[in-house]
Amino acid sequence: MKRSGFKNKPRKPLKRTPLRKVSPNKVKTKKPRIGLLKKKLWELCKQIIRTRDGSICFICGKSGLEGSGWHTGHFIPSASCGAFLRYDLRNLHSSCYNCNINLGGNGAEFYRRIVEVYGSDFGEQIFKDKQISIKADILFYEEKIKEYKEISSWNKNKLFDYTRVYRGKPIPESDV
Ligand SMILES: [Zn+2]
Repeated sequence: MKRSGFKNKPRKPLKRTPLRKVSPNKVKTKKPRIGLLKKKLWELCKQIIRTRDGSICFICGKSGLEGSGWHTGHFIPSASCGAFLRYDLRNLHSSCYNCNINLGGNGAEFYRRIVEVYGSDFGEQIFKDKQISIKADILFYEEKIKEYKEISSWNKNKLFDYTRVYRGKPIPESDV
């Protein structure tokens, strides 16, 4: 048998397998949507808290809050609570820049005021609810937005009562 003298036959170019395309719908739709819902829910929270607490710092009593100096402060800081308390009206109160930023939330005084206005059981319940872990998915945000849209037209007293009687009943996991 005659052997081929061409030991280094030119190789056929390797066939390239095209990179698997990930459906853009799968990746892209979820994130921005939940981001938008978060933003929408937070706007509603701010609106409700402003109506309920007025332009007075709930913590130190400073009045005449306006514009960027009118904050919505978290009693249990946003960084250390889950989505459940992050948007919970019991945990949110009008706050001045000094209490919310300079004093890092002014926690001790914040707690004293919560007990004074809403009672100690109310304060204790918020601490207990810190343990509640929920799945903060699109449904959670949509339900919360629906609830807050409904109450966002209420007046100060009605919102205060709503906050006061609320006992942090979590949405059951099965419904999330
Ligand atoms: Zn203040």
